[in-house]
Amino acid sequence: MANPLYDTLFGCHAGSGAPFLRLPDGRTVTYGAFLVRAARFAHVLGGLGAEPGARVAVQVEKSADALALYAACAQAGLIFLPLNTGYTPAELSYFVENSGAAIFVCDPGRSETLQDVAEGAGARLLTLGAAGDGTLSEIAGDMPDAFDTVSRDGEDLAAFLYTSGTTGRSKGAMLTQNNLLSNAETLVACWRFTERDVLLHALPIFHTHGLFVATNVILRVGGSMIFLPKFDTDAVIDWLPEATSLMGVPTFYTRLLGDERFDRDITANMRLFTSGSAPLLAETHRAFEERTGHRILERYGMTETNMNTSNPYDGERRAGTVGPPLPDVELKVCDPETGETLSQGEIGVIEVRGPNVFKGYWRMPEKTAEELRDDGFFITGDLGQIDADGYVTIVGRAKDLIISGGYNVYPKEVETALDALPGVLESAVIGVPHPDLGEGVVGLLVPAPGETPDLAAAGAALSETLAKYKQPRHLAVVDALPRNTMGKVQKAALRRDWAELFDGEPGR
Ligand code: ATP
Ligand code: MG
Repeated sequence: MANPLYDTLFGCHAGSGAPFLRLPDGRTVTYGAFLVRAARFAHVLGGLGAEPGARVAVQVEKSADALALYAACAQAGLIFLPLNTGYTPAELSYFVENSGAAIFVCDPGRSETLQDVAEGAGARLLTLGAAGDGTLSEIAGDMPDAFDTVSRDGEDLAAFLYTSGTTGRSKGAMLTQNNLLSNAETLVACWRFTERDVLLHALPIFHTHGLFVATNVILRVGGSMIFLPKFDTDAVIDWLPEATSLMGVPTFYTRLLGDERFDRDITANMRLFTSGSAPLLAETHRAFEERTGHRILERYGMTETNMNTSNPYDGERRAGTVGPPLPDVELKVCDPETGETLSQGEIGVIEVRGPNVFKGYWRMPEKTAEELRDDGFFITGDLGQIDADGYVTIVGRAKDLIISGGYNVYPKEVETALDALPGVLESAVIGVPHPDLGEGVVGLLVPAPGETPDLAAAGAALSETLAKYKQPRHLAVVDALPRNTMGKVQKAALRRDWAELFDGEPGR
């Protein structure tokens, strides 16, 4: 009887005394102990009558036990469904009900608040925590330490992961065992992971990046993780000398660079820094290399496909690009209207096909049919171009494309020009309703510490670098950009905030 996901990532380490997790309090969890914990959880979940294929929704803070639930679901043939810890009860009601979860696991502190959510969705509520009668952890203590792995096929669903909701309501992406395994396999090979690797893990585990990229890669090779509850500059600086690799989002790197203790010495043991989930500024790239001697490896992925592209481990890591497609991923750029494949250098919608591509959105057949073509290509909704060497550049999301006076304006191009202005730390460019142009370009600037960008000078400088139709009709200085936990700028929120800007005032 086989269960490829469990056997390949977990079962192969059974009984091993090798370290899997190193926790901030100094404790180490070995593979063997972790798998015993997971087996006990599997007994509890199975004992509640959850049949293979049932969904287990999990909203808990990051911990070794939270990860053991992932292993338990794999072993018991259940579908693991991690939920963002920031979701409110109202949001959770939607996810737990929409997913049809049989079991909903939360932290003990929230169980009273979430009882109604679980009941409303017809799910059984369990709490996960070290203390307190009746918590999953407590019940698990009395369970046998081995569990008969439930047989599954590689094409069976292993997880539902809701997208980040950057462009609209989050969608539940259905991922198979093979989706997860193929990506782990490819990334291990491309990024040269071995059992000697110690990954500094500071990402959330309710998102594809922290769970299916970072964690699965380490499980695949039997390496270990320094498992921090969240990104904290002090903690990361303390632990870095003991790590070999860090997978991050751009804000990790800007924060590290903001601390003068972060230098060559601290990163001397490191062999790999990766960045994804949001664009890495060219300036961050440059400053990081200057400070540490390491060049960040930027890559591109998403909930529906795990990883699509990566800059090379050996070879040129090209700033501003996300590198070529991974070996088993086909990637093309298509005309958004006709769907025809465009030529090298042309900008269009990125489509991908490969063993990493998900099976569709749960309970959203129309959305699935719109975005997943019959020939297996997934229409990502990202706009990009491919250069002569196969390197992919993301120029923004189709939904963020600005059409001003009939011209296409790609926000990233304008943002790159704004970022280069004196006194500017970062920027966001959005399109908002405009009486003459349909949409007017608006540039929002975040000043570098202690600086006050000169808007008049900025406007003049932009007229030298950008065609008239791309130049922001309005520039404003803001304290910060709204971001979600993965560091993604919430452009829809910005568009709402600035929606009335041009009412009766067409700008310059
Ligand atoms: P939703 O689909 O619900 O609107 P989302 O697309 O933000 O939310 P995720 O699947 O978490 O949800 O994020 C994937 C997206 O993140 C990609 O489609 C892309 O827009 C962006 N992204 C990922 N990596 C990079 C990168 N290196 N550079 C630029 N953008 C990136
Ligand atoms: Mg998306």
